[in-house]
Amino acid sequence: MKVYITQQIPEITEKMLRELGHEVDVNQQNKILSKQELITVLKAKPYDGVVCLLTNTIDGEVFDAVPTAKIFANYAVGYNNIDVVEANKRGIIVTNTPGALTDAVAEHTVALIMSVARRVVESDKYLREGKFKGWEPLGFLGLDMKGKTVGILGAGRIGFRVGQILHKGFDMNVIYYDVKRNEMFEKDLDAKYFESLEELLKVSDIVSVHVPLLDSTKHLINKERLQMMKKTAYLVNTSRGPVVDETALVEALKNGVIAGAGLDVFENEPALAPDLADLSNIVITPHIASATVHARNEMATLVAQNIIDFLEGKVPANKVIA
Ligand code: NAD
Repeated sequence: MKVYITQQIPEITEKMLRELGHEVDVNQQNKILSKQELITVLKAKPYDGVVCLLTNTIDGEVFDAVPTAKIFANYAVGYNNIDVVEANKRGIIVTNTPGALTDAVAEHTVALIMSVARRVVESDKYLREGKFKGWEPLGFLGLDMKGKTVGILGAGRIGFRVGQILHKGFDMNVIYYDVKRNEMFEKDLDAKYFESLEELLKVSDIVSVHVPLLDSTKHLINKERLQMMKKTAYLVNTSRGPVVDETALVEALKNGVIAGAGLDVFENEPALAPDLADLSNIVITPHIASATVHARNEMATLVAQNIIDFLEGKVPANKVIA
């Protein structure tokens, strides 16, 4: 069978597929293929499967380019880049990589929370600029975590792990908002469920976003909801950029509506909203929350296993449903 991988990922995927005798082509240019470039490449061979990334838009036009490919295995847990409804209509299977990156993303989320609330990046810059003249009793005061409240939006795998680290490690109170209740939050983290997002925003010291990008979650955090947050609160988003209205966030950060923010994802990646990068009360990382050697290797293993299962006539464990 023939498989195409749209960008270099850990070699594990290629190795696992080749060991079973499959032919694997990998985009060797170290760049994201545009949709048109991807279509051109896929038209060249009757591929049976495609490994794609969150940076590839996969829709009807792409499926048309390679009608032989009946599986698109996303090298990510989020799959908002794929038109799953269209895939399902055509009998094409879409898979993702849940769980493989949960710890890595949760740990990065906590890193962002600590960085912004304890002003790590801002004070690092100050020091490097030679401004430090000795211990300052009132310099860089931030927020301590113990006893504070973290509001988790999206109580799934990553949200749970973030809540667990903050509750068990920092003695924080956890509250959560989701379309459905999650008993584990209540049992293991003593967390309170909020049916109302607005009510959760009003009482959280940290708001951490972990919902998937859907029509229902686009701009879930908008101007009005930012205004409901405490002036001393911090917003952290490691889910998908469009879940937060980035322009509204910049305004909120400029005007002291909230204390600060940490972002790993952006509304129009790789572009940033005007003025975002000039703010001192935000910590930004370039979509690296899953970037640990272990997580990326685990994702590569899962992606290969999903393809292998499919090619062997089994239903892949990580098949996603629209
Ligand atoms: P998950 O499916 O386990 O959890 C998502 C939770 O969001 C679920 O509990 C679901 O019920 C809830 N949800 C769905 N729609 C909602 C809505 N409208 N309002 C409130 N809650 C809603 O997923 P996960 O593994 O925890 O991953 C979460 C997201 O994190 C992914 O979808 C992906 O977009 C993002 N992610 C980002 C990175 C990164 O590199 N920054 C890495 C991995 C995942």
